[in-house]
Amino acid sequence: MTIKANNPEISSWINVNQESDFPIQNLPFGVFSIKNSSARIGVAIGNEILDLKELFELGYLADLGFQLSDFDNCYLNDMMIHGKLATRKLRNRISDLLNSESAELKNNIKDVNRVIVSQKDAIMQLPVKIGDYTDFYSSEQHAYNVGCMFRDPNNALLPNWKHIPVGYHGRSSSIIISDTPVHRPKGQQKPDDNSPPVFGPCKLFDFELEMGFITYQGKELGENITTNEADHYIFGMCLFNDLSARDIQKWEYVPLGPFLAKNFASSMSAWIVTLDALEPFRIPGPVQEPKVLPYLNYEGNKHLDIKLEVSLMPENGQAKIISNSNYKYMYWNMNQQLAHHSVNGCNINCGDLLASGTISGPDEGSYGSMLEISWKGTKPVDMPDGSQRKFINDNDTIIMKGYSEKNGLRIGFGKVATKILPSK
Ligand code: CA
Repeated sequence: MTIKANNPEISSWINVNQESDFPIQNLPFGVFSIKNSSARIGVAIGNEILDLKELFELGYLADLGFQLSDFDNCYLNDMMIHGKLATRKLRNRISDLLNSESAELKNNIKDVNRVIVSQKDAIMQLPVKIGDYTDFYSSEQHAYNVGCMFRDPNNALLPNWKHIPVGYHGRSSSIIISDTPVHRPKGQQKPDDNSPPVFGPCKLFDFELEMGFITYQGKELGENITTNEADHYIFGMCLFNDLSARDIQKWEYVPLGPFLAKNFASSMSAWIVTLDALEPFRIPGPVQEPKVLPYLNYEGNKHLDIKLEVSLMPENGQAKIISNSNYKYMYWNMNQQLAHHSVNGCNINCGDLLASGTISGPDEGSYGSMLEISWKGTKPVDMPDGSQRKFINDNDTIIMKGYSEKNGLRIGFGKVATKILPSK
C-alpha cells in the first residue's frame, strides 16, 4: 500500500534535525494547549507543532470531511471517528502543506505564525478519551521469565499461553500522560508466608515497558474483527508504562488477576504515531508453534521493528539506561490481539487502548521490568551515583523512548516519563 505522506524522498520547510523523532514522514497526532488558549489537536514536526484548529480555521483543511470541532477539541476521538481513510487523507494533506516544495503555506508568513507553535511553549495533554483499556501479556520472554521466577522453569509458560493472546481489562480512567508524577501506592501485602497480611506503601514498585495501540470505531456488539481487517481499525501507537506494585500484585492476583497493583496509574506518551507512518517498519513475526486456531492465523508482515529503551533517573542524578528492547519481540501481534479480543462479539470502540504487555527481549539487557532486570531483587542495578536499585525508589523518574529506523528514516514516539513520588 502506498501512502503518500510516507514518501522517504520528501522534506519539510520546517527544520528537522537528523535525530528528531518527528520528520515529515511521521506526523503523529496529539493534543496540546499554550498559555491562555484552549486545548486543540496538533501534529508534531521537528521541534514544532502544527496547530490543526488554526489550520482548519484558515481554510487549509477544507473538503476533507472534517469540521472545526474535530480539531478544536481536547481529545482526538472526534477526529478519529471519521475513520482510517479520512485520517490518511488528512495526514497526506498535512504532508503536502509542510513539503519544502509546496509554497501554499510556507510563503504565507502571517498564517505560518498562526499555525506553528514551538513544542517548548506547549503543554501536552492526554490525547485520547480512552473508553476501554485492555492489557495483553504477549511477549514470550516476559511470560517465560515470570513463569521461571514464580512457578517452574521447566513449565514456565502456562498451557494456554501459545494458544491465546492472554489479557485482562484494566482501568482507563487512571491512564495519565507523560510527565505526570505518581505517588507510590499503598495496599495490602503479604511479605511473610507464615504471617498475616500487612498494609502500607508498596515496597516493590515497578514499571512495565509496553506499547499501546488506539482503535478507530470498531463493529457492533456481536460482530468480530478478523486479523485481515484489523489494520483498518488501528489508528496508531504510543509508548506505555504499566506501573506495577509487585508486592500488592503477588498477594491479590489469585484467582482473578491484577487489580489494585495496576489500577492506580498507567502512563502513555503524548504523540500517537499512526499505523500508516509505521508501515515501512513491518517485519515477519516468530514462527508460532504449536499452530494457532484458524481465527488467529494472519497474512503478511504484522510485527513491527521498534527500538525501545528504558532509563532510570534518580532525583538530581544522572539517568542510566537499564533496558534496550524492541517491539519485534512480541509473540502475538496487534492483528491477532484485536481478532482475539473481538472473536466472541466483544465490541471495539473509537478510542480504546490495547496495550502489548511487558516487552522483554531474549537477553538480560532487554528485559522490560525491574522484576526481570533485578531478577526478583537478586541482581541489583548499579546506578551512576553509587546507589543500587532492585525496584524503583521514591523520586526516581522512569523514562521510556522508542523509534523505528531504516535507510536513514527515523520515526519516533518521543518519550513517556514518570516520576515516582513518596506515598501520600
Ligand atoms: Ca502489563
